[in-house]
Amino acid sequence: MKFTDLGLDQRILDGIDAMGYETATPVQQQVMVPILEGKDIIASAQTGTGKTAAFLLPLIHRLLTVPHDSNEINAMIIVPTRELAIQIAEGLEGLSYFTDVSSIAVYGGSGGDSFNAEKKALTQGVDIVICTPGRMIAHLNMGYVKLKGLKYLVLDEADRMLDMGFNDDIMKIISFLPKERQNLLFSATMPMKMRELARKILREPVEINIAISKPPEQIVQKAFIVYEPQKIPIIKDMLGGSKFQNVIVFCSKKQNVKQLTAELKRAKLSAEEIHSDLDQTKREQVLQDFRNKKLNILVATDILSRGIDIEDIDLVINFDVPNDGEDYVHRIGRTARAASKGTAFTLVSEKEQNKFAAIEALLGEPVLKGTVPEEFGPTPTYNPRAPRQGGQNRRSQGNRRNGPPRGDKKK
Ligand code: AMP
Repeated sequence: MKFTDLGLDQRILDGIDAMGYETATPVQQQVMVPILEGKDIIASAQTGTGKTAAFLLPLIHRLLTVPHDSNEINAMIIVPTRELAIQIAEGLEGLSYFTDVSSIAVYGGSGGDSFNAEKKALTQGVDIVICTPGRMIAHLNMGYVKLKGLKYLVLDEADRMLDMGFNDDIMKIISFLPKERQNLLFSATMPMKMRELARKILREPVEINIAISKPPEQIVQKAFIVYEPQKIPIIKDMLGGSKFQNVIVFCSKKQNVKQLTAELKRAKLSAEEIHSDLDQTKREQVLQDFRNKKLNILVATDILSRGIDIEDIDLVINFDVPNDGEDYVHRIGRTARAASKGTAFTLVSEKEQNKFAAIEALLGEPVLKGTVPEEFGPTPTYNPRAPRQGGQNRRSQGNRRNGPPRGDKKK
């Protein structure tokens, strides 16, 4: 799904573009529409799935399109830790950069100056407050927090908040809020006590479960950062020795399947292609030969990445970077079936670096980068337009900002 399909305000699309996001992650695909429709949601989604943008984007859109009082606090995001508050504030700053949505992070542990700055914002009104429970209560107890216009409440990492003993604090904060509001609850796990909290807070919520699959641990994953024309020679080299017996190479395009197979055959390697241009009989024949080990290398489009069970594949090569984390997991999941070990190599060209970084973000950790032998010449450095690290304007109020998140867009 593309972000443009959602009817988001153009200024938000510009922010998404500047952040380098191309397609919506699974949690974003499922969560954004009900939020845009004004529904309450309860979503089980872990960090690394893109859940922050999944609630920030529709929230910003609603602030831009549904009338609200800019002298009030309009949205409150409650989080367990100051680190998460800072991270969300930074993400928000990037995504809302081209809008006039204002925000402030309110968390404990910072000095008197920050307390006064927070007090000022909470007294004058600010579109979005991102806060930790204890610090918010400290402000609420002083009686100046402007909450009459609040329309949106987000609880992020709610299970962690309950584990940290914040249940009563959360309920106390909620007792200060108007009853008519939209509630969004995100939690990595859904224990019983979470269900109870949800029952108290949410109204007819849409329930969303995102189980991001992880590749089996016994797969050795490596990525090679290369220039596009280096891909075929490098793959020929990888397959040249007799180290791997049963290999699948995945390509996104049929054209690449055909070209690579021809090159491998020319190098006298035992390779065949499989894609939708082949008739069913031919496809089955190729698969049969591969299963019977008459054939060592299968070059395939994604038609083979899901569901087809072939035993004993010891190497999967991604000729190109799959479109999203799920496709990546499905492709490399062809190897290391059951308890066996497997290897997965991915060739990442310059223009695929951002896409690969997004997959790494979804996997929750970077993939080891392999060294390309010198004979293939110099290779590019891995320098994706990384998900923004921020660090410039940790608290923003009234859209006071130091510069665009990335790229050369001007306001
Ligand atoms: P989160 O689960 O919200 O902590 O997000 C994990 C990482 O994924 C963050 O660094 C985000 O900037 C990044 N991210 C979120 N949405 C997308 C997307 N649609 N495409 C690429 N990266 C994304």
